[in-house]
Amino acid sequence: MEKYIDIFLNSFSGYFNYLINEIQNPSLTNYFWWLIGLSFLVLAMEIIIPWRKDQKIIRKGFWLDVFYVFFNFFIFSLIGYNAVSNVFVELFNDFLGLFGIDNLVAFHIQNFPIWSQFLIMFLVADFIQWNVHIQLHKRSWLWKFHKVHHSVKEMGFAAQFRFHFMETIVYKVVQYVPLAMIGFGIQEFFIVHMFGVLIGHLNHANVGWDYGPFKYILNNPKMHIWHHSKALPEERPYGMNFGLTLSLWDYLFGTAHIPEDGKNIELGFDSDEDYPQDFWNQLKRPFKE
Ligand SMILES: [Zn+2]
Ligand SMILES: [Zn+2]
Repeated sequence: MEKYIDIFLNSFSGYFNYLINEIQNPSLTNYFWWLIGLSFLVLAMEIIIPWRKDQKIIRKGFWLDVFYVFFNFFIFSLIGYNAVSNVFVELFNDFLGLFGIDNLVAFHIQNFPIWSQFLIMFLVADFIQWNVHIQLHKRSWLWKFHKVHHSVKEMGFAAQFRFHFMETIVYKVVQYVPLAMIGFGIQEFFIVHMFGVLIGHLNHANVGWDYGPFKYILNNPKMHIWHHSKALPEERPYGMNFGLTLSLWDYLFGTAHIPEDGKNIELGFDSDEDYPQDFWNQLKRPFKE
């Protein structure tokens, strides 16, 4: 037990030093400065070509979401994710060790050309995320956590990062085994991660496009807004458009649904009127429901 606690704590202190270093040393593979850059890029699009022209730039929940960006991306997605994943990997390897298995790798993906490694990693991870996202809606104990993301009432890019930290844990744990089996660690490729951040920002941004014919592959603002619709069609009680980066899975498996222009639909979920709209109460809420 002590071993796992040590790994957990060392991950945090190691990460803290890494983060300070990131902020001080901008580079091409720097999470901090890429996140800042992409955020300003998408914010600029919202200002120059807004979809809902009467929506304020500093919309309802804007500062809350900005806080979530930093909390979930750094404190949790990167730090906690490091800590949790280091512990999980150790636990998992120890567990396999009980059965005399010391390597889970079924395919040696490292021998593939690097571009195909990116592509495979991205496709596998995104497909798993799509499946997990559906479960977040269907299972009531998961939905309690996922409600935080659906508490957004006015959409803007930063809403992407409004989610409960438990989601990071659920996504990463579920992803770990399949990715480990094709020879990936829990660390994602930088470029795959930042591409996901950009598309995710755009999915939530106040910009009204869908990439034309590429809408069948890439998730987009016109599609994702329906995922946040307060009213759900009778035949889709758990919702629709579950894709994270790709919309492909929704089109392949029949969960895509864009009945009309969703520009001004009401967002949220049933009886969200009394849902907390501050970070601390949103953090605690799922544990009390
Ligand atoms: Zn959702
Ligand atoms: Zn969303």
